[in-house]
Amino acid sequence: MAELNTDLLIIGGGVTGLCTAYLCRKKNIDCTLIESQETLGKKWRLAGGAMGNMTNRTISPEHYVSHNSKQAKKLLQTLFKSWTTEHVLAFMHEMDMEYEERDFGQIFCKKPVKNLIGTLVQSLAKTRILTNEKIQSFSCEQKDPKKHYIIQTKTHTIRCGKLVIATGSSAYPQLGASDFALQVARKWGHKTFPFRSALAPLLLPEHSPLLGLEGISLPVRMKSFRDGQEKADPCGIRALLFTHTGLSGPAGLVISCLWKDGETISINFLPEDNLLEKMHDTANGKKLVKNLILPLMPDRLAYTLMPKDLQERKIAELSKKDRERLIASIQNYQFIPKGIDTFKKAEACIGGIELDGVTANLESKLHENLYFGGECLDITGLLGGYNIHFALACAHKIASKI
Ligand SMILES: Cc1cc2nc3c(=O)[nH]c(=O)nc-3n(C[C@H](O)[C@H](O)[C@H](O)COP(=O)(O)OP(=O)(O)OC[C@H]3O[C@@H](n4cnc5c(N)ncnc54)[C@H](O)[C@@H]3O)c2cc1C
Repeated sequence: MAELNTDLLIIGGGVTGLCTAYLCRKKNIDCTLIESQETLGKKWRLAGGAMGNMTNRTISPEHYVSHNSKQAKKLLQTLFKSWTTEHVLAFMHEMDMEYEERDFGQIFCKKPVKNLIGTLVQSLAKTRILTNEKIQSFSCEQKDPKKHYIIQTKTHTIRCGKLVIATGSSAYPQLGASDFALQVARKWGHKTFPFRSALAPLLLPEHSPLLGLEGISLPVRMKSFRDGQEKADPCGIRALLFTHTGLSGPAGLVISCLWKDGETISINFLPEDNLLEKMHDTANGKKLVKNLILPLMPDRLAYTLMPKDLQERKIAELSKKDRERLIASIQNYQFIPKGIDTFKKAEACIGGIELDGVTANLESKLHENLYFGGECLDITGLLGGYNIHFALACAHKIASKI
């Protein structure tokens, strides 16, 4: 069993951990990083279809959710003051990576993100990195005035003065994701919210008419609501993709972050059309309902949504109630999802370490020199580069405090 003393120990070699190590290295801090997997940044390598959606032109707290939205807003405002979109672009430049901007202000790598990770890891040549390390126990020496943390792995006993927990969330366990951060936080007195999958497909109820439409994709506007309270994607209209069990694509993934058990989902399948106006237009009066709707969306979806008894009727013959029924079926389609797909399909998690337990520098309020950063905190970004931006912002904040 090897003994190892280090000033700073970072647990987790993903976005937050690697970038904290990089920034601390620049400050000549004696640093060790341990990662449970053989490969560093496994999840990051897959991000954005392997092209890494690293940040967004519109970074603001409204693109994040948390159980404690007031505290999240305060923390995010502090983090984003010193870590902006421009800082991510500068970091990408440092890592020899060009970027390209796509819709909704999303900024991706121009080449696979694994190249950026490769450059980053190369720059850590002088940092002690232990991969494939399984942590067996963790403790702290309460009596020691400097309060050393002790981490026991199969091969090492590591003592450190400062400890950063950057082990992410449970999303994508097939890549090594774990709830280790929550175990540490709970053991040391922090309040936590259990992880649940987010940025994952919404599962349709068992007999939903929308089952069987897999493969269809179209732009929609979605919201989740209960008791008069509504939540919607701040980006508005996005593409929805039907799968064989549920709703995915950017619109489905974002709404999975906003939806809570039991809430109703409403979908506007023609978000840019005014159906009522079209029905009042005398030029459409002689048209059959189906001939008005079919050109506007994929046939299979149109036949599923249109009430059967109205499809062959002429527009001019519809009563006010019929028109309302038709509009509701297409522009305010409502259902209660069965749930959200498993961690295996989730790009992120809701839940994590309660924010009241950490300072604006992400240091534990209960234990000096213990830091939590990235997805293990109770903050989740919606789709669009917000999660990587947040993880990088955490790394920057922690490294500037250390
Ligand atoms: C398929 C997919 C695509 C995504 N695409 C994007 C995107 O394009 N843009 C975006 O903003 N976000 C994206 N995300 C989300 C983003 O990858 C995460 O939010 C981000 O990686 C979180 O960074 P982190 O450092 O907190 O955690 P991670 O990057 O997950 O790093 C945590 C690390 O800790 C390690 N670890 C876990 N437990 C232990 C342990 N006990 N001991 C040691 N090490 C441990 C893990 O193996 C991992 O390497 C995507 C996620 C997935 C799954």
